[in-house]
Formats: sequence, structure tokens, C-alpha cells
Amino acid sequence: MIIRLKLARFFASTALLLTSIAAGLGAPNLSPLAKQPDWPSLEKYQETITRGEFEALLQKVYCAQGVDVSLIQVEGESARIAIDRDEQTWFTLRFAKDEASRKQPERGWRPAAALPRAPQGRELAGLKVTLDPGHIGGTWARMEERWFQVGDSKPVQEGNMTLLVAKLIAPQLRKLGATVSLVREKNAPATDKRPDDLKEVSKKILLRAGNPEPRDNFVGPDDPQKEQTVQWQNERLFYRNSEIRKRAERVNTELKPDVVLCLHFNAESWDDPAKPSLTDRNHLHFLINGAYLPDELAFDDVRFEMIHRLLSRTHEEELPLGEQFARTMSQRTQLPRYEYTTDNVARVGETGYVYARNLIATRLYHAPVIYFEPYVMNSDEVFWRIQEGDYEGIRNVNGTDRPSIFREYADSVVAGLLEYHRAARK
Ligand SMILES: [Zn+2]
Repeated sequence: MIIRLKLARFFASTALLLTSIAAGLGAPNLSPLAKQPDWPSLEKYQETITRGEFEALLQKVYCAQGVDVSLIQVEGESARIAIDRDEQTWFTLRFAKDEASRKQPERGWRPAAALPRAPQGRELAGLKVTLDPGHIGGTWARMEERWFQVGDSKPVQEGNMTLLVAKLIAPQLRKLGATVSLVREKNAPATDKRPDDLKEVSKKILLRAGNPEPRDNFVGPDDPQKEQTVQWQNERLFYRNSEIRKRAERVNTELKPDVVLCLHFNAESWDDPAKPSLTDRNHLHFLINGAYLPDELAFDDVRFEMIHRLLSRTHEEELPLGEQFARTMSQRTQLPRYEYTTDNVARVGETGYVYARNLIATRLYHAPVIYFEPYVMNSDEVFWRIQEGDYEGIRNVNGTDRPSIFREYADSVVAGLLEYHRAARK
């Protein structure tokens, strides 16, 4: 299930209104818990991209809704990106004159096409894959709102299911020659921060939003003022922000993969988690990084990460890989495309299953990232398949013969990656 952008927008709009309140969130133009960006680290991308390529990526992938000229300007042979809009400091990126004279960017990951040809049965030899089982699960599942229960049935906890799928995928990829790491191995947080550690930041966020004396706790999930309490802010900062930043730190400094696969299950709104509504809607889509909103680009760290992704050319790997997963998984699961009704995404590619979207994980991991969103957990069909648990072979589930939903998910991820490498390494 996708981390919604509502909060990011809320931060962004309030930050813009109240930039004079530094509020100790770092500099006023940093998003919560972000570090000061390392602009000099972009020097290695000088003359690695032509003006045409840079502008096409901005328009089609990263800033389809446009970009403020006080933040990014393209003129002649270079682009200027604001380091700090208020201080009028800029990073200047020099373009390559043409594709022939363009320098190769140095980066920590390798596209599939750069890996050597591999023998049959070991088609993924040399590939470093990191699996990111979405959410935390376990005792944290209720707090992170990835938990529901129908009557006395087994509770559905997204974080537990994504870890189960990751553990089914990992040995299959290893058998094909890949080196596989998981950003978490159990249903426990990667971050060592806990919600209460983030109180001061939460209070400052609420102050920025014009709430100088917030209540400490909310009463229950239905509390209409929930989002204005310190507790709710603490929890969100913990499981969504601090947790993913910690995973990104591991990915970028320790694991250094060629590709990251973020595994999720989707959901439609279930209202009360103790009396959830089931739906007949079931669908599939994939997210890759892009579609930054103008409000989000006003944050110095977000703008920096976008430019870093653009220049490291992750899109060139994410798009064809995402399209391959779309073909393989749609065929194996028979799930229809999910159609977004919001404006925070841009459809990319030909299959119709792949969207660009600015999520914290797709933004912060320094490698191509594919974010999987198959299966609506609270659809009638998927709910009963989840209740059946994991099993070998085929069983009759609610009137239809089915493999375990977890194996169907895992096997189709493996098949998609294998197919992609077979074609790319020829
Ligand atoms: Zn999810």
C-alpha cells in the first residue's frame, strides 16, 4: 500500500507560508528529518548529459507539472539549480555538447546491459539485488495502519506478507546467480528511533502548521483531530520517515545494489480496521521515481535528490525493467491496470501499468528502484487467498484453483527479472 502524499503536501504548503519560522527542522527549506544536501557531490555529473536529454527528462518524467524558474533554469550550455532560493546560491551543471562527447557518469550501480553474458541457469550472475519488504509489520502493523481483521479471521498485516514474499524470492534469485540482500529480515524497525524520540520535531511541524499548543494524544482511530496531535505526528515520522531514511542509509552505504525491489500489497480504503469493508476491485501497478510536485521541489533536499536521480540515469533502467515486470506479472496474475485519479503521478511507458511518482523510497535509494503494488488486500478475492496462507501447489480457494498468492507474487517477480536480464545481456 502506498505511502500517501497528503502529508508531504501539508508540510510543503505550511513550510512555504511560514518559512520565517525556522522551527529547528534543520534549515527552513529542508523536509522533516532530512540532512543538508551534498551539492558538490554532483560535480561528477558535469558534461554527462546533453541539454536535450536534461530537458526531456524534466518534462516527461520528473517535473511534468512544470518547475519554478526560481528553482531550476536552463540557459544555453548549462542549467542552474537553486541550492538555497532565499540566499540566491546556485549549482551550475554544464551540459555535454552532443551525445558523442558526453562523459560517462560514475555511479555505484550497473545496468543489466553492462553485466557480462551469463550461462543458462545462472542468468543473474553478478547482479546485486536488494529486496525492501514494505512496512514493518508485527506489533507495529496497527500503528502503521497496515492491519485489518474481518471478524475472527487471521489479521491481515501488509508488513508480514511483504517479508514472506521477499523470503520466497531471495533463494530463487540466489540460485540464478544474484547476490541478494534484504533491508529487513524480521518484522521489526530498521531505525533505532522510536515515536517518542521524535516529539520535538513533531511539535515544530505542528507549530509550522499554525497549531502552537497541540494535544499530546489522540483518542482512537476515529478522532477527527488525530492529525493535529503530537502522538500521530510522532508515529508518522517514525514508521514512514525515520524508518525509510534508515533503510536508505543501509542501501546507499552498505548494500550498494544494482537494483532495489520495494515489495508491497495494495489496498482500497477499508475504513474501520476492525470492521473493514471488502471490495470487488483488484488491480496491479508499478511505481518508479518521478512526477515531483512543485510544492515538493521547494524543499532543498527533495530538489537535490531529484537532480541526483535524473543525472545518475536511473530512469533508463527503471522504465524498461518496470515494463518487463508489468508484462510478466499482468500475464501471470491476470490483474488489470490500476488507474490513478489523482494528479501526483505521470503514466510512463507503453504497458499502462507503470507510473512515475515521488515516494520517499523511490527517491532516496541510490539505485534503480521498482515499487510493486499488486493485489488489493481487502478485495474479496485476495482476502480469501491471504487467509489460506502459503502452500505448495494448487488449492481450491473460494471456488477457484489457485497457487499460494505469496508464491504467485514471488515467482512472477523472479520470472520478470530473469526475462529482463536474458534480453538485456544478449
Ligand atoms: Zn505498502
